[in-house]
Amino acid sequence: MARAAVPGGLRVRRAWRQGHLVERRRETESAVTLVLEVTGWPGHLAGQHIDVRLTAPDGYQAARSYSLAAPTYGDRIEITVQRVADGEVSSYLVDEARNGDFVEVRGPVGGWFVWRPEDSAPVLLVGGGSGVVPLMAMIRTRDGASPTPFRLIYSVRTPDDRIYDHELHSRATQDSGLDITFLYTRTAPEGETRPVGRITTKDLALYGWPPELEPTCYVCGPTPFVEAAADLLIDRGHNPTRIRTERFGPTGP
Ligand SMILES: Cc1cc2nc3c(=O)[nH]c(=O)nc-3n(C[C@H](O)[C@H](O)[C@H](O)COP(=O)(O)OP(=O)(O)OC[C@H]3O[C@@H](n4cnc5c(N)ncnc54)[C@H](O)[C@@H]3O)c2cc1C
Repeated sequence: MARAAVPGGLRVRRAWRQGHLVERRRETESAVTLVLEVTGWPGHLAGQHIDVRLTAPDGYQAARSYSLAAPTYGDRIEITVQRVADGEVSSYLVDEARNGDFVEVRGPVGGWFVWRPEDSAPVLLVGGGSGVVPLMAMIRTRDGASPTPFRLIYSVRTPDDRIYDHELHSRATQDSGLDITFLYTRTAPEGETRPVGRITTKDLALYGWPPELEPTCYVCGPTPFVEAAADLLIDRGHNPTRIRTERFGPTGP
């Protein structure tokens, strides 16, 4: 059994729990949100993740990590999974898993890449692709619980790849404490003035917080994206101790 951090910093051993799928929501062509009911779920912090284990009829098992996408609400938890080409677990979860299916869940895991409503420093969220998932959990947790201003810089290939698109637009429209900027790396929507391309220091200067405000920066996505964005933040003068990163590299054996 793995060891995992829990709210308050105490570390305890976590066991696998039985869960079942109660709802599926299509987010993009390649990503779905799955709502799982997990009996006796202990609660979690925004930014934490879980391990999900699937068992085939012949006993073969595969486990992968997925970030929690929403705050705790009773025994229900949400994850958002993006299909990886030829991916064993992500393809199954995105294309085949159905309501009522059983999965095993272990967690919550992680004690550093977390945001708590009592944290008062401005927050800069920098996400690439499905790396927006734990950042969305932070945005949803903040709603009504904290006036701390948030800025999200979200890098995607094309407009069709924006996960949580409708909800992000709606939250940004209604909440003056939440700014959202999309960066497009391959195709931009009509009227977009920024040239397509990867995140740059200029993007951080235009859409992030100045380092002097001492924001807490959360960077999440594929490993190369996270490393590039964290380096840019440091180049711009952000204190490395205020930069928290989560890399979505391959998991499992
Ligand atoms: C802490 C953590 C949190 C994560 N949270 C999420 C999440 O919220 N949503 C989400 O969709 N994914 C998330 N991931 C990634 C997830 O754990 C799996 O790695 C991913 O779903 C692929 O698993 P798979 O079984 O489909 O692919 P595999 O069968 O394991 O791999 C298939 C091929 O894809 C490559 N590959 C595997 N994973 C990735 C990856 N992440 N990026 C690029 N190439 C990869 C492999 O090297 C291999 O060539 C997270 C990873 C970590 C470490």
